[in-house]
Amino acid sequence: KLYGDDRANSRGVDLTDEATVRSLRAGIDAALAQAWTAGPIVGGQDLAGQKARPVLDPSDHTRTVGTTADATAEHIDRALALAAQAQPGWDALGGEGRARILDAMGDALEADTPALLGILIREAGKTWGDAVAEVREAVDFCRYYADLARKQFGAPTRLPGPTGESNELSLHGRGTFVCISPWNFPLAIFTGQVAAALAAGNAVAAKPAEQTTLVGARAVRLFHTAGVPGDILHLLPGDGETVGAALVADARIGGVAFTGSTETARLINRALAARDGAIVPLIAETGGQNAMIVDSTALLEQVVDDCITSAFQSAGQRCSAMRVLFVQDDVADQMAHLLKGAMQLITLGDPLDLATDVGPIIDEDARKILVAHGERMDREAKLVHACPTGADLPNGTFFGPRLYEIDSLKRLPREVFGPILHLVRWKADSLDQVLADIDATGYGLTLGVHSRLEGRAQEIFKRLNCGNTYINRNMVGAVVGVQPFGGHGLSGTGPKAGGPHYLLRFATEKTLTVNI
Ligand code: GLU
Repeated sequence: KLYGDDRANSRGVDLTDEATVRSLRAGIDAALAQAWTAGPIVGGQDLAGQKARPVLDPSDHTRTVGTTADATAEHIDRALALAAQAQPGWDALGGEGRARILDAMGDALEADTPALLGILIREAGKTWGDAVAEVREAVDFCRYYADLARKQFGAPTRLPGPTGESNELSLHGRGTFVCISPWNFPLAIFTGQVAAALAAGNAVAAKPAEQTTLVGARAVRLFHTAGVPGDILHLLPGDGETVGAALVADARIGGVAFTGSTETARLINRALAARDGAIVPLIAETGGQNAMIVDSTALLEQVVDDCITSAFQSAGQRCSAMRVLFVQDDVADQMAHLLKGAMQLITLGDPLDLATDVGPIIDEDARKILVAHGERMDREAKLVHACPTGADLPNGTFFGPRLYEIDSLKRLPREVFGPILHLVRWKADSLDQVLADIDATGYGLTLGVHSRLEGRAQEIFKRLNCGNTYINRNMVGAVVGVQPFGGHGLSGTGPKAGGPHYLLRFATEKTLTVNI
């Protein structure tokens, strides 16, 4: 059974249960009282890196969460040498052997929930809800790819042939995969990439985002405890220009899995093409200019709730987040009014406070881009509503959600990564133009449609080239094995993470023909 899925997703934790929250809070506090460190982990050893520096909490820069340091050129060289030596043994372990270890990793993540929540909240500025969802997604990735490893990387597939000849096809790792992950899902995407590469029989050199190395280091140590050999999985922290560039330029690597900006994906693609060595795959998951289309048959109260979630959850720092809301003009005023009311209820603040809906922006560079975009919108667009800016939280990088009305999607030449939503009105006879404008962005990640006209929603789905389309619901939070996730065009290469074809791109195939 190649495409079946015999496991259940993790249940996560119930944040409406007071006793659960109390015990988690105690675990989080205990975890945050420790001195967290991250640095290169090569051959299973924590090593002293270069450029040691404190990790500061984005919600309060006066608070130090831990320390981090970058990998050196020697660390990278040693990691790739050890990985190349060890990878054939890992591949020979087979799908079942690797699956058992990945299942153990799923259990280890679940058992480590309080510490992981603490680091996610303080290092990445995640709210409780987002942090819980992230641990759950990381667990699901491990178990889902374990399940696929059993099915796809088990016994070779026997193929027909003439009498006296046997033919079989088997899947194997490609060598060492470089996994470069983003700060916005520093545990889920980090773990997902690594688990997939390992499941397929590869060694891994993982580079976490510079902003979120503590949680990456925690995950790598858990992978090792779960049974992944130290020589098979290495952590090489540092920035993209140095550590990332050195990894993708190395002739010894077998492929790259990257999640981040479209610009960086292009740079990696060029570097891979320019280097010596084998021609290797790039699996890139990049940005989006994601739209929701609302027509006058939609249930506006539901649309409002879905808009708040899609545009502002995680402070809009999701590649799946909604950036543009196209509303049919006869309900647009009412929609704007309802959204304004709902935005007034959003609480911006310390993510460790359970009442907080929107936490900080990851760092000052990211916040400056939002401020500059807001200034441009103040000149060119109509401000419908701006939540408080977080001026009462002066030590953190906050940006209050905003809603602007613009006359055309063309005002947004590129993705703006944060809690700014843009509303555009459309007339009954201009839906074709709306679809053409969305198509012209070149992105194709997520799409939302709110309409009670079944035929219309299906028609929009067919005409637009988007990776994930959500009809009459919010458009974020794809679930592993339920909504395989990933986009088209400028949004990525596929295959979809959390889907049945993902591991195949991490693998190479061997055909064996024997004349008996
Ligand atoms: N998979 C996430 C979602 O569906 C988004 C991942 C990302 O932002 O990179 O919301």
